Amino acid sequence: MKIMNAKYAGRCETCGGSFDEGAEIGWSRSIGAVHSHCIGVDPNSPENQEYSRGIADGERRQAEKAIYGEAFAEELAVMDEFNSYWKYGEDY
Ligand SMILES: [Zn+2]
Repeated sequence: MKIMNAKYAGRCETCGGSFDEGAEIGWSRSIGAVHSHCIGVDPNSPENQEYSRGIADGERRQAEKAIYGEAFAEELAVMDEFNSYWKYGEDY
């Protein structure tokens, strides 16, 4: 795995989060590009799946804020949480 600066913006192969052009990344032919903090992380470990979900959630919230404004994005986040708890309850 080589450490380098990204020539292009892209997506991390480990956690699925995005990185910007010029960001410090690790790269190898077999794996592709990953965040420098994702080097050596097993993409299939439960911890990383949890972490990836967090990143994806964070990115979605940012996008929602940009589109709908802070107040409505906040409402969406609450609704989201409600829905996931509700689903969780239903499984029982
Ligand atoms: Zn990553």
